Amino acid sequence: MGSRLRKLKSSLGKKKLSDGKTIGGKGRLTDVVINRLTAFYGNAIRGNTKNVHEMRQAIWAVWAHTASTDEQPKHWFCPKGSNSWCKYNVCVQNNKVPGFKHKTNLPEAVSEAIKPIFKDLSHLKLLRRCLGGKTQNPNESLNSLIWKYSPKTIGSSITITRIAAFLAVCDYNDGHKSQIDIMNAMV
Ligand SMILES: [Zn+2]
Repeated sequence: MGSRLRKLKSSLGKKKLSDGKTIGGKGRLTDVVINRLTAFYGNAIRGNTKNVHEMRQAIWAVWAHTASTDEQPKHWFCPKGSNSWCKYNVCVQNNKVPGFKHKTNLPEAVSEAIKPIFKDLSHLKLLRRCLGGKTQNPNESLNSLIWKYSPKTIGSSITITRIAAFLAVCDYNDGHKSQIDIMNAMV
């Protein structure tokens, strides 16, 4: 999420969005906002590791929550009740909505610009790989796969290490079946 948002921001640069302003700047997609969205995205995944549909809904809650304005609140997917991280829904619980002011929401043009990233990163195929809360140490598990193909106990060349890394990435992304495909392609 963080790298996708940063990439989008740098690719758009000074280009004007639909509201005539750039994607960055005060009250828009700042580094602080990028970090916040990235953290919320991570929480949405780690907080819903049993069900991809709930995971997806929690991710869209992040987008819709930050796209909410006083005129158009979109807190449909935010957690409800007085313990919710969503202050708007806390006000709903306490019947205090009329006094609520959205202060940290993103302008519509920015929300629309980042929407495709949320769409990509809430794809069920991607989320299925996050079931069981495996996202906390993906690097470690990829690392362990590399060592599986090129054990530390056996001295090996850079070529062998490279092949081990390629195989590990295939295995990591597409499972063990990918190696059968590789073998078939080689013979
Ligand atoms: Zn909310």
